[in-house]
Amino acid sequence: MTPVKIEIADGKFLKINWDDGSEDKLALDFLRKNCPCAICTSQPAGSDEMVVRIFGESQTQVASIQVVGQYAINIVWKDGHNTGIYEFDYLKELAANTAEE
Ligand SMILES: [Zn+2]
Repeated sequence: MTPVKIEIADGKFLKINWDDGSEDKLALDFLRKNCPCAICTSQPAGSDEMVVRIFGESQTQVASIQVVGQYAINIVWKDGHNTGIYEFDYLKELAANTAEE
């Protein structure tokens, strides 16, 4: 599935309109917490505990969004973090996990 339109809604959500006519809204802080990049997904060596990260405002606000090829978007956050490539499939998966209105 491919987005036909991606925009920031209310400064808090990423709104995606898919080519099948469906629409998903993903909270920006949720997206940041689920950043798929190597830095964010790595766990400290030897630790079984989940690391809980606290995010400040600049980390959960979007500076810009770039489309990457035909398969993903790159979200640049206001704190400068720009290594998160969110594949469309991954966004769909996140949306399915947060089915809420
Ligand atoms: Zn990241």
